[in-house]
Amino acid sequence: MINFKEEVEKRKDQLIQDIETLCAIPSVYDEKTAGENQPYGKACRNALDAMLEIGKRDGFVTYDEHGYAGHIDIGDQEESFGILGHLDVVPVNEVGWNSDPFKVVQVNDKLYGRGVADDKGPLLAGYYAAKIIHDLNLPVKKKIRVIFGCDEERGSSCVAHYFQNNPFPSMGFTPDAEFPVVYGEKGIVRFDIKGDVKKDGLVAMVAGDRVNIVPEKCEAIIEGNHKQYEASFKEFLEKNHVTGVIEEEGNCTKLILKGKSAHASLPEEGINAVSLLATYLDSIINNKLVHFIATYLNDYDGKGLQINHEGLMGKLTMNLGVVRYVKEKAEIELDLRCPHEIDLKKMADDVEELCHSYGLTLESDIHEPLYVDPNSELIQKLHKAYVEVSGDTTSAPQAIGGGTYAKSMPNCVAFGCEFKGEDNAIHGNNENIKVDSLLKSTEIFAKAIYDLIKE
Ligand SMILES: [Zn+2]
Repeated sequence: MINFKEEVEKRKDQLIQDIETLCAIPSVYDEKTAGENQPYGKACRNALDAMLEIGKRDGFVTYDEHGYAGHIDIGDQEESFGILGHLDVVPVNEVGWNSDPFKVVQVNDKLYGRGVADDKGPLLAGYYAAKIIHDLNLPVKKKIRVIFGCDEERGSSCVAHYFQNNPFPSMGFTPDAEFPVVYGEKGIVRFDIKGDVKKDGLVAMVAGDRVNIVPEKCEAIIEGNHKQYEASFKEFLEKNHVTGVIEEEGNCTKLILKGKSAHASLPEEGINAVSLLATYLDSIINNKLVHFIATYLNDYDGKGLQINHEGLMGKLTMNLGVVRYVKEKAEIELDLRCPHEIDLKKMADDVEELCHSYGLTLESDIHEPLYVDPNSELIQKLHKAYVEVSGDTTSAPQAIGGGTYAKSMPNCVAFGCEFKGEDNAIHGNNENIKVDSLLKSTEIFAKAIYDLIKE
């Protein structure tokens, strides 16, 4: 029986030292220093060099894809198992950190620093897991290719570029999310609906600035004196358990409705201020845009558009994130998260046809879902290693509405490193990771990979 725990423990100091080295480099995208062989700027280039250097130091073959991404090969078999992580980080706030974000410090049982959890720490956990399998000379059928990109935070152009020139590993995981294991990520579809819409009582309507957030406030200006609407608006607000304001605005009436914000992947956790206000407005004015929203976009699951679907990954969700109606020009932005059974192109065509019947145009941006059979060897073995090391027998493999780095590679899923009940403050101030969780992750990875590639 191989004692992976002990092997990880032996490498603990080196692992932490390498995390310190990588996290000391502020590898935030920097347009000013971007150029040949450093498409994302000098700091990202330096982080890539530092990671490649770690591989060389340990005697492995490394590869640099012109500063976009790179890899370290552990083993020399033809087929490969991939570990996909990233070296870029999001910017830090000027205030709010208790220590220098680019100098890792350990306080009690946690490491603090930008990148310790997203994603330099987890990437190195994956690397050390692979290294342990190599150091122990375990018999394996595949080499382990540790791949690292430098542009995950801005949309993963790094690996898109990398995979143009390099084959996909036959399977793999990305330690850039959470445990236990994510077998499915819904497809993400964005609709941008535009058109000229006659005033018909509505002067303006504005809400939201990001399509992936449920707008918590919607403002509208309608024609006519506010007094005539006061009673009915108040009643509507009460009935729907929300608050709002109605007031005079020139010769017109200004209405503000306050809902509740939430992430677009879980829109039912919020209250969409736009669809609610449109519902009220539709009862008092006869405007085509208002009617369109109140009729077709007044839910979180696409029922109004007749695109609702509940599949193996759960329900389709819809968020009306942005609405802008000024000077008779209308724009609506939708964010949909779609289970893998749906034909996304056909769905877009159907919605486009409906928009046309209202004199509106539709542009769509489609990102296909990721789905790996939860009963497949990959998911089963990753999950088994997680259960064995963590002792958590209740958390099943999950499907999520968001998208992770795993979508960049077929047969790849998100696996770790955030444990249930822990908050690594990813993208926030004082990003952190427990040393114990880091070691546990490394042990889980080593066990899982070995189980998947052993002779
Ligand atoms: Zn990340």
